[in-house]
Amino acid sequence: METDTADAAGKNGVIFDIQRFSLHDGPGIRTLVFMKGCPLRCLWCSNPESQSRNPQVLFYEEKCIGCGACYEVCPRRGSLLEDWPVPREDCTGCGCCVEVCFAGARELSGRVVSVREVLDVVLRDRTFYEQSEGGVTVGGGEPLLQYEFTAGLLRACRENGLHTAVETCGFAGKNALETVLQHTDLLLFDLKHMDTEVHKRYTGAGNERILENARFASKTVRKMVIRMPLIPGVNSDETNIEALAGFIKNELEGVERVDILPYHTMGASKITRLGGEYPLGDLEPLTQERIDRTTGILKSRGLKVTVGG
Ligand code: SF4
Ligand code: SF4
Ligand code: SF4
Repeated sequence: METDTADAAGKNGVIFDIQRFSLHDGPGIRTLVFMKGCPLRCLWCSNPESQSRNPQVLFYEEKCIGCGACYEVCPRRGSLLEDWPVPREDCTGCGCCVEVCFAGARELSGRVVSVREVLDVVLRDRTFYEQSEGGVTVGGGEPLLQYEFTAGLLRACRENGLHTAVETCGFAGKNALETVLQHTDLLLFDLKHMDTEVHKRYTGAGNERILENARFASKTVRKMVIRMPLIPGVNSDETNIEALAGFIKNELEGVERVDILPYHTMGASKITRLGGEYPLGDLEPLTQERIDRTTGILKSRGLKVTVGG
């Protein structure tokens, strides 16, 4: 039976997607909730529409028939003319242009939701969670950026008997992390580079706060998995992998396993639809040999490793 907690959670959140029946990001069959907004700007980001907290328009050029209806209804068309048809800075995300585009060339990413609304969607698949020992995973974007909403949702899920997981980049205040961890069964914690200068160059921020939060979380949460996107020429060198293995072994407690997430270019087309340019250009995917060498280093340190998530 649904509880009152969802109604009492108060805070609304901004999400950009809910995916049901996922077999990733935690055990069993899961519903994934994607929060909008992230403090990092990783160059390889596969969900660039998750970075801004505000709703944004994605433009599918191949579907556009050039009717001009979107431009006619846009309340900001004066200041957006230079960017048209892909609105950027001055777009309020009102969605008027999306509503009149019958060609389906415009999509609004991001909407405000209550805990109750999301919980109602999550609970539709309760039977599948029970049969598969699955549950709900909140990711993004960065769920700790909207930690009150995230904690409220996780709490409501737990009160309904569901397993809860969170995927975080770890760049958050201690209070946000502590609050969310109270309602989290499994923490998927991303580590991207062990050298803070390199980390800053590729993600926009140093790694000190992230490593500190990883230390704290490993002592606090029931179960923790480290995830590392493996990006050729960025963090796939042996020095970095050795440093990662050393950090996990020597400074974290009870990490269950390490998930290696090989580089892919799924974010490239989305950046174009947001009016930007993919910063990693034609970076080639990693060879299987490089992936095997990475997992070999981690396994040689006694860590359990999977490729994928
Ligand atoms: S932390 Fe994740 S969501 Fe945020 S910019 Fe990096 S890859 Fe994208
Ligand atoms: S309304 Fe849609 S199809 Fe018409 S110009 Fe705008 S984006 Fe293109
Ligand atoms: S979402 Fe609103 S402000 Fe942004 S381009 Fe469309 S109509 Fe204009």
